[in-house]
Amino acid sequence: MHTFEFIRPADQAAAIAAAAQSKTAQQGADVRFLGGGTTLIDLMKLNVETPARLLDINRLPLDKIEVTSDGGVRIGAMVRNADLANHAKVQKDYSVLSQAILQGASAQIRNMATTAGNLLQRTRCVYFRDTAMPCNKREPGTGCPAITGSNRTLAVLGTSEHCIATNPSDMCVALAALEATIHIQGPKGSRTVPMGDFHLLPGSTPNRETVLEPGDLITHVTLPAPKKGSKQVYLKLRDRASYEFALASAAVVITTAGGNLNWARIALGGVGTKPWRSPEAEAALAGKPANAANFRKAAEAAMRNAKPQSENKFKSELAKRCLVQALETATKA
Ligand SMILES: Cc1cc2nc3c(=O)[nH]c(=O)nc-3n(C[C@H](O)[C@H](O)[C@H](O)COP(=O)(O)OP(=O)(O)OC[C@H]3O[C@@H](n4cnc5c(N)ncnc54)[C@H](O)[C@@H]3O)c2cc1C
Ligand code: SF4
Repeated sequence: MHTFEFIRPADQAAAIAAAAQSKTAQQGADVRFLGGGTTLIDLMKLNVETPARLLDINRLPLDKIEVTSDGGVRIGAMVRNADLANHAKVQKDYSVLSQAILQGASAQIRNMATTAGNLLQRTRCVYFRDTAMPCNKREPGTGCPAITGSNRTLAVLGTSEHCIATNPSDMCVALAALEATIHIQGPKGSRTVPMGDFHLLPGSTPNRETVLEPGDLITHVTLPAPKKGSKQVYLKLRDRASYEFALASAAVVITTAGGNLNWARIALGGVGTKPWRSPEAEAALAGKPANAANFRKAAEAAMRNAKPQSENKFKSELAKRCLVQALETATKA
């Protein structure tokens, strides 16, 4: 049986110093922060994660949502998903984020799950979660059975010959469309990383999923001031209506003037190896009349580089229809 030491660090500095002793902040790290535990404890029960030390960071004062001087928001890493989704300013100015979170998991899980934990949730690829199977993400160099095996739910964008796992988060898709910034405090000081650069493509190192280094603690996520008059929609398509991950999803933040789309931020979920911002779709929409033909062109552009596997060819078309529908709903809002 796997044993571990459970530690409650006195403060942020102590948490970072203890975590910095780990050789990696990625898969297999021997020291792990514990947020809501809804990903980590699951994976420990499966022996997919076997940290020697768990640092419970639930008492750190990172549980506030504050309005920033530029009119944006600053979200503490320990803010629970339910509190974030139901916050008045988030519902009013960043409704795509609220919609995305509320379509994820269950009420009970959203009450436990934290902002930072959600950013770092792991793939649901069945081989990753089964230690009897090889998996490059869990054990580098062992292979990727998903490529010739069960891949219906896996990614079609950003894949490599080493891993095709989907990033499963709904919240992250909305954060990508909202151009969030991740704030990190580590042994060498603090830094910020744009949401688009935080998650890494699998390439030849799928075990490395983010830019985090040993000791790095996510402290906050900030959102820029909301785009005035923007219309926002998160549409999630899945096998059943609740308690299920996206097969395809779309986060749409747009502004329109005189029947034209003059500004668009688009991100897709369920189809990418990371939360998938689509500059191609955004460029295809900019300045164009808001109509079905242009929405379809944007969707084609977004999925142009899709590389389907044996069981998930349907995802390209599903994602296109998802984006078109989200754009139609947003323009009518
Ligand atoms: C049955 C089920 C269904 C689900 N359905 C969905 C769904 O439909 N959509 C969806 O988006 N999600 C879904 N989820 C995933 C859920 O959203 C995540 O498990 C949750 O957001 C993780 O947050 P947490 O605080 O519990 O993370 P934890 O499990 O505590 O931590 C996750 C990882 O983050 C690290 N970590 C935590 N805090 C920090 C920090 N401040 N700095 C650095 N590292 C940190 C931990 O060390 C760990 O590696 C589902 C989960 C379950 C169990
Ligand atoms: S897709 Fe990635 S996570 Fe799944 S088996 Fe292949 S390497 Fe592992």
